[in-house]
Amino acid sequence: MRLPPGVTSADFSKAIKEFEAVIGKEWVFTSDEDVDLYRDSYSPLWHEEDEPIPSAAVAPDGIEQIQAILKIANAYKIPLWTISTGRNLGYGGSAPLLGGSVVLDLKRMNRVLEVNDKNHYALVEPGVSYFDLYRYIHERGLKVWLDPPDPGWGSPVGNCLERGGGYTPMRDHYDAVCGMEVVLANGEVVRTGMGALPGSKTWQQYKYGFGPYVTGMFSQSNFGIVTKMGIWLMPEPEAYLSGTVTVSKHDDLFPLVEIFANLVNSGTLQATTLLTSPLWFSPPNEELDALRYSGSVPGLEDYARRKNIPYWSVPLPFYGPAKVIAAQWEYAKEKFSSIPGVKFEDGPSYRFPLSADQLAKMTDTVPFGIPSLQIFSIMGPHGQGHLGFSPIIPMTGEAVLESQKVFTQVYRDLGSPGGSATTFPIFSFFARAFVNIYLFPIEHDVEKNRKTREIYRRLIKESAARGWGEYRTHTTFMGDISDTYSFNNHALRHFHETIKDAVDPNGILSPGKCGIWPKRMRKATA
Ligand code: ADP
Repeated sequence: MRLPPGVTSADFSKAIKEFEAVIGKEWVFTSDEDVDLYRDSYSPLWHEEDEPIPSAAVAPDGIEQIQAILKIANAYKIPLWTISTGRNLGYGGSAPLLGGSVVLDLKRMNRVLEVNDKNHYALVEPGVSYFDLYRYIHERGLKVWLDPPDPGWGSPVGNCLERGGGYTPMRDHYDAVCGMEVVLANGEVVRTGMGALPGSKTWQQYKYGFGPYVTGMFSQSNFGIVTKMGIWLMPEPEAYLSGTVTVSKHDDLFPLVEIFANLVNSGTLQATTLLTSPLWFSPPNEELDALRYSGSVPGLEDYARRKNIPYWSVPLPFYGPAKVIAAQWEYAKEKFSSIPGVKFEDGPSYRFPLSADQLAKMTDTVPFGIPSLQIFSIMGPHGQGHLGFSPIIPMTGEAVLESQKVFTQVYRDLGSPGGSATTFPIFSFFARAFVNIYLFPIEHDVEKNRKTREIYRRLIKESAARGWGEYRTHTTFMGDISDTYSFNNHALRHFHETIKDAVDPNGILSPGKCGIWPKRMRKATA
């Protein structure tokens, strides 16, 4: 049996027996066959010595059982790695960061506690998946939408805690969180925001409560175990429409992004979109490949003109009252019309609820609040998995161009395939800044994964040197990315460590998560 680091075999056996006594033998998993299910099949360390494999997993049902597990883990100093449904593939899945940790799997706590379609919120437990919540809403005919990520098999709790993104105006998933219940390492149960007021009537309607706002401390952290979460939902919109804006010149990117940012920041445009160059996504041919490789702007502009391909394009999705969104699209067109030669194309428009026929014809239901696993079939040739590299960059044309240049160059230097045609799609998952997501393929091939890690680490450095930081990452790189958030001699990390030592003195909760190590495992840092 694998052991948690620093725990003797005798102690671990005793701890396992104690876990079994408090939650039942059938909810303590120790056989290789069971534990293997918690490995990350998208791990960039797949089948290497350093792959972090858990020692066991426990699946409690309820706060009392969590408290009992914490007591045992504190006594034997056993690291626990908390997951909700453990489906965030590309970021670690259900595997811990520290090999030998015991996975604390909250899948059994899967109750939808409330959905309110008058004030538009839900209160859920960690094991509730997007599919579960959708089904609950749908079966009751409630007039609210959730905002699933792709794919929808994970949980709102896990995804919001990781600050994931979706597509509707509720796309910033952490931003939709309103009130949490958290079990601390010492077993104490805390409710944040208005939840601290006994009998509160607005736990899911007002985020801040009174005093310091601590809810955010439990996202991307290892300070507690979240057992309930409030999430704001979107009232079912009346309608949807979309249109695409295209421009023909390379330098049109600058006014395109400036106008786009104004529309986003003024609230005219609130949903996620993808800024791309259709030139990069056009089917390759020898001439285009050579032009893309050389990066010749006049050459590419000339090619685009001859083939009638736009240089840049951005689709604009609008959700809301039909009259309002029609006016928003009109207004957006008026603003973009200041770019000479700009073109507009009307896209699909819908009234909600969608008919069965409309639904059947859709390739992707996620932008319409309906969870799906479609992404796995449209993601393309990604071998056995993928790994997202996702820096936050300014919402400016300059930053977009710089990011394309940096990433293409790193790619070429490392002799990666596709170095001539690489483009990095720019998403607007969050207000005010772009996120640039590149999906590296992960394969069950040790040598290829070693190379990918090298590229990835270099990209982290190249990005940080330009003032860009990643918003989220796979467990393998959490330390590297945390290292780049180093202002004033890592003052922020020191602050995190001060909190960690105070709330989890035995260092049992998710050691290493986002670069936060408990004192007993901390390496000396400068
Ligand atoms: P999903 O349910 O979306 O698949 P995961 O369960 O994989 O998400 O959770 C993503 C990450 O968020 C985990 O690796 C863990 O670090 C953190 N996390 C998930 N659930 C909780 C929770 N209930 N309390 C504290 N941290 C959590």
